[in-house]
Amino acid sequence: MGYDVVIAGAGAAGCVVASRLSEDPKRSVLLLEAGPDYPDPTMVPPEILSIVSPAHTHDWGYTSEPSFHGRSLRLPRGKLVGGCSATNAAIALRGAEADYDEWAAFGGPEWSFREVLPFFRLLEDDRDFDTEWHGRGGPLPIGRTRFEDPAPVHRAFLEACREAGYPRVVDHNAPAAVGAGPLPLNALGGVRQSTALTYLARGRVRPNLTVRGDAMVDRVRLVGNRAVGVRLAGSGEEISGGSVILAGGTYGSPAILMRSGIGPAEHLRTIGVAEREDLDGVGRSLRDHPLLGLRFAAVPPVPQAPFAQTALSLKSSQENPGQDIQIFPSSVLATDAGKSPTMAHFIVFASIVKPLSTGRLTLRSADPSDAPLINPGYFTDPADMPCMIDAVRKARLLSRTLSLSRLSAGELYPGPGVTDSDSDLQAAILAKGETYHHAVGTCRMGFAGDHRAVVDSKGKVHGMDRLYVVDASVFPIIPAANTHVPVIMTAERCAAWLAETV
Ligand SMILES: Cc1cc2nc3c(=O)[nH]c(=O)nc-3n(C[C@H](O)[C@H](O)[C@H](O)COP(=O)(O)OP(=O)(O)OC[C@H]3O[C@@H](n4cnc5c(N)ncnc54)[C@H](O)[C@@H]3O)c2cc1C
Repeated sequence: MGYDVVIAGAGAAGCVVASRLSEDPKRSVLLLEAGPDYPDPTMVPPEILSIVSPAHTHDWGYTSEPSFHGRSLRLPRGKLVGGCSATNAAIALRGAEADYDEWAAFGGPEWSFREVLPFFRLLEDDRDFDTEWHGRGGPLPIGRTRFEDPAPVHRAFLEACREAGYPRVVDHNAPAAVGAGPLPLNALGGVRQSTALTYLARGRVRPNLTVRGDAMVDRVRLVGNRAVGVRLAGSGEEISGGSVILAGGTYGSPAILMRSGIGPAEHLRTIGVAEREDLDGVGRSLRDHPLLGLRFAAVPPVPQAPFAQTALSLKSSQENPGQDIQIFPSSVLATDAGKSPTMAHFIVFASIVKPLSTGRLTLRSADPSDAPLINPGYFTDPADMPCMIDAVRKARLLSRTLSLSRLSAGELYPGPGVTDSDSDLQAAILAKGETYHHAVGTCRMGFAGDHRAVVDSKGKVHGMDRLYVVDASVFPIIPAANTHVPVIMTAERCAAWLAETV
C-alpha cells in the first residue's frame, strides 16, 4: 500500500507536518515513529505528562564521543510519538529577532524574523498576551507563571536579578527581551503540551492520516535520485510514498540520509554504503548549547512545581544583536543524603546560547541498531569558553544575593573551595558541563553551491527529488533559545510550502 507522503519521525516537527499535511483529505499521510505510540491520552505514562521534570523513560540512550576533557556525556533524545516534545522541560522560547535575520543569510528572506513571525503566531495560543507579537487559538497553549505565583526558588531568583540590577522582562518572547522574568511554558494544569497531544491529536481523527509506532526507518528507497518510499529496520518492510519527509531530529535524520547513500562520499565509503549523492554537509555543522548546573543544598519542603519557571537572558556585550547568555534556576528537587545533606537541592543553570563551536555526527556502521558517533564539539571555538566562564560567574553572583542565599543551605557544586577565577571556573565547567539538549544543524539549510548545505530553503535535499528534511537538523544557526518552539515554527513554515508540492 502506498501513501502520498511518508514522514519518518514523529517528534516535535513530525507531528506538526503530519497534522498540517493531512488537513487536505485527498492527501494520504503515513507518520512512522521508532518509539511507541500512545494514541489514547489516558494511556500516556504519567512522567510523559508531568512538567515537574523532563522525562527519561523513553530514550535512545545516546552518549557523546569524549567531550569536555575526555568525558562522555549523556545526550537524551525522546523515543516515542512526540519525540523530545513529549519529554522536555516545556520551556517555550522563540529566540532573538537577530537569530532569524541570520537564518535569512542561509535560507533567503523567507526566514527573516519579519517573515517567520506569522508562523510563531500561528503555532501558539498565548494565554497572557494578545499583541502583534502573539497568536491566539493556535494548537500550542503557552502561558507564564505570574510573579506572585512561582515556587519559592523562582520568586527568589527574580528578586535576586532585581537586586543585581538586571531589568525585568514580562514577556521573554517579545522582541528585544533581555532581562529576568517568567518563562513561557507549553503546559496546561501541570501537563506538558507536546506536539503529540496538541497538533497530532487534532490530526489523528482524520482517516487519511495513519500513525505507526515501533516502526524505525532504516533508509529511504530511491529510484535514481528520486525518493519512492522507505525501508523499515528489523522487518525490512518496504513502504511506498510519493514524497518522503525526514523528521528524525538532529541525530536521526542525518543517520537515515547516510544509510541511504546520501552524505560525505569519503565517510560513506568507510561504512560500506554505496554513494547515491555526495553531500558533504550531512552530519556536519552540529551546534548545541553547553550547560553548567551550580548545585545548592535546599531547605525542604520540596514543592510540586514545574522544573523551570523563570529565566534571565543577557547579552555578554552590548554590541551583540541579541542575547547570548541564559541563566535559570530549577525548582527544589528531592535527592538522596549522599548528594545533599538536606535531601533536597536546587540548581542554577548557566548556558551560552550563541556558541560558535561546531561538532559532527558520523556513523559507526550502516546497521540502524548501531548508535551514531556524536561529537558535539563544545568549546572548539576559542570564543566560547570565555563567554561560558562569564555566564557561570554571573550565575554564581546571583546565587549569593540575599534573596537566593536565604534558600540555600550551601553550595554543593562547584563548592566553597572553588574561587571565581577564570581558571577555577573553567575547570568546573570542564568537570561537570553537560548538554542543554538543543542540538541542531546536521542537515543545515543553504543555497546550492554552499558545500555544507544539505537542504534548500524549503527543506528539499539538494540533488534529490521528492526527499525533504524538516526538523531541528535543518537550522542553519542555533537560536538564542531553547529549540522546541523554533522547531515547531520551522515545521509550520515548511508544511505551508510542502502543502503546495507534495
Ligand atoms: C531532556 C530534554 C529537555 C528539553 N527541554 C526543552 C525545553 O524545555 N524547551 C525547548 O524549547 N526545548 C527543549 N528540548 C529540545 C527540544 O525538545 C528539541 O529541540 C525538539 O524536540 C527537536 O525536535 P525534532 O522534531 O527535531 O526532534 P525530536 O523531537 O527529537 O523528534 C524526532 C523523532 O524522530 C524519531 N526518530 C528518530 N530516528 C528515527 C527513525 N530512524 N525512524 C523512525 N523514527 C525516528 C524519534 O524517536 C523522535 O520521536 C529538550 C530536549 C531534551 C532531550
